[in-house]
Amino acid sequence: MAFESLSERLSTIFQGLSGKGKLSEDDVNLALKEVRMALLEADVNFKLVKDFVAKVKEKAIGEEVFSSLSPAQTVIKIVKEELTAMMGEENTELKLRPQSEITVLMMVGLQGAGKTTTAAKLAGKFQKMHRKPLLVACDIYRPAAIEQLRVNAEKLSIPFFSLGNQIKPEEIAQRAYEEAKEKGYNLLILDTAGRLQIDDALMQELKRMKAAVPVDWTILTVDAMTGQEAVNVSQSFSEDIGVDGVILTKCDGDTRGGAALSIKAMTGQPILFLGMGEKLSELEPFYPDRMAGRILGMGDVLSLIEKAQSEIDEEKARESVRKLSKGQFNYDDFMEQMNQLQKLGGIAGILKMLPGMNKAMQGIDLEDSEKKMKQVKCIIQSMTFKERANPKLMNPSRKKRIASGAGVDISEVNKLVKQFEEMQKMMKQFGGGRGKHGSPFGGG
Ligand code: GDP
Repeated sequence: MAFESLSERLSTIFQGLSGKGKLSEDDVNLALKEVRMALLEADVNFKLVKDFVAKVKEKAIGEEVFSSLSPAQTVIKIVKEELTAMMGEENTELKLRPQSEITVLMMVGLQGAGKTTTAAKLAGKFQKMHRKPLLVACDIYRPAAIEQLRVNAEKLSIPFFSLGNQIKPEEIAQRAYEEAKEKGYNLLILDTAGRLQIDDALMQELKRMKAAVPVDWTILTVDAMTGQEAVNVSQSFSEDIGVDGVILTKCDGDTRGGAALSIKAMTGQPILFLGMGEKLSELEPFYPDRMAGRILGMGDVLSLIEKAQSEIDEEKARESVRKLSKGQFNYDDFMEQMNQLQKLGGIAGILKMLPGMNKAMQGIDLEDSEKKMKQVKCIIQSMTFKERANPKLMNPSRKKRIASGAGVDISEVNKLVKQFEEMQKMMKQFGGGRGKHGSPFGGG
């Protein structure tokens, strides 16, 4: 998971400070020296790190950390403020024109950065907000690009526009714009070609496209895993063709965080979103202050709540609670709950958003819990619809079939059934309240 090691290092440094009542200037200097190392190791630009440490030091002295009631907290507060400032203070919203006008987004970036995927993610996001997107395939060089965009568009039921690979990208863009006008689409998303490296031909092509249609946002996708290289790419694209915002992809991987921390300060371009996975729903708005909080191990409850609001079907959730309290909860409902949990990023994803969990999670085998959850899903999927709705129908021979269908030992099926029955009993007793029994996939 991204930023993990930076987050852990910073938490440890500040824990060391918190242990002391009063802080001397030496204490602060030593802590900042360690912060400096941690940031450099996270691949944050050298000059930025230097400025950062200088600013924190200056503020710490200005705010009289040494006489303050909780010196360590004051230092942490200053560090958080400066980290936030480095990433750009406010969230930059990708504002679209009014519904009656066509907004044009042009996705640019190197090959493999995630343009095509992110184009579809954005289309899906705005479709949910009642926009009418049209995904346009302008990458005529990478053979699979057109097909990849078409498949993604289909997955999201979003209209797709392609003229094959024989027509110039600027002409495709123009014709797509005409199509949007004719058919009433109000969000044109242009997927453009990338290269393995920046070259002049690519930049010229992008410039011609910008001249051909009224692009509102040139959005650069960069791969967070490439660290400072992502910053260099951002700089080049900004200088050559002009960029209005950056989307940092693959932040779900173990990126060290340098790109997220440096791009705004180094290039002036705001980060709009973070790509958090290969699935088309995995795109999160970027909030510098929340990110700073996450990095400092303070969690990000606000983002978790927003995610829950957008991903969880409230009606379904109410229905589950009603069934739970009446003891009518069946395997289908159980499966639905697991799906909802996964939409929020699984157990690990949720825990990471909670304050102080970075440290607390050390030593907990989350992977094992996730694995167990997958196994439970497999077992339920191997049941017939009737059995899911009415678990009593499962006799020993059916259980054997279910076990072989799910590729597990029958003891696993028996265990799940037993735990499920216990859960039902308990729910009836408590009328839907939470008990202290473990969940069937462990960890609880
Ligand atoms: P393009 O060449 O810039 O169009 O890049 P693609 O959209 O084809 O993406 C390249 C690879 O990165 C694909 O395998 C994507 O599934 C993957 N990818 C894109 N965004 C993300 C992300 O946020 N997280 C992860 N883990 N993979 C991503």
